[in-house]
Amino acid sequence: MRLILLGPPGAGKGTQAQRLVEKHGIPQLSTGDMLRAAVQAGTEVGKRAKAVMDAGELVSDTIVNAIVAERIDQADCARGFILDGYPRTLVQADAVESMLLERGIGLDTVIELVVDDRALVGRIVKRADDAKAAGQPVRKDDNPAVFEERLREYYKKTAPLTGYYYAKGKLKTVDGMASIDAVTAEIEAVVVAAAKAR
Ligand code: AMP
Repeated sequence: MRLILLGPPGAGKGTQAQRLVEKHGIPQLSTGDMLRAAVQAGTEVGKRAKAVMDAGELVSDTIVNAIVAERIDQADCARGFILDGYPRTLVQADAVESMLLERGIGLDTVIELVVDDRALVGRIVKRADDAKAAGQPVRKDDNPAVFEERLREYYKKTAPLTGYYYAKGKLKTVDGMASIDAVTAEIEAVVVAAAKAR
């Protein structure tokens, strides 16, 4: 199963991706996590990405496309993967298409978590508070000021992907404002239907 989770920051993509990992035994490929790991490790990519990420803007397509292309060739991706936070631009969406085509594999479905923007800032603040309470590092971009920029980037560059995948007949929407368990159940229904349609 190869699927993409779409939705603005704070929509619950990471939480739902984790559940899909547990249920289906395929890895979550979060470009945000990969970039944060690169920043932490002080790699060349990390050095280039850090300021952009801290400002809530998008890292260059070239960088993220290269990271993902390398990652999907690893053995644990052979049975499938969940793309979380990628693609985020039309250029990236075209890159995914080429990557899959070159490897002779297809995309099963794209699931958009539809959420109410007004609830998102609250979720981000809660995520930061929860991390702090658990003694974990708080993401530098999980604060209301940077969040506004992340949301702007989403509408400018990522939201057009819903039209892109709708036109390809791949887009499924899920109510991301429902409870976490209800969202998981809706996603599971989409995944089961996509597997059957193969
Ligand atoms: P996330 O954890 O998905 O919210 O991503 C955190 C930050 O990493 C984003 O605000 C971007 O700066 C960067 N990032 C993650 N994924 C991408 C992507 N696919 N394209 C460009 N930048 C990304």
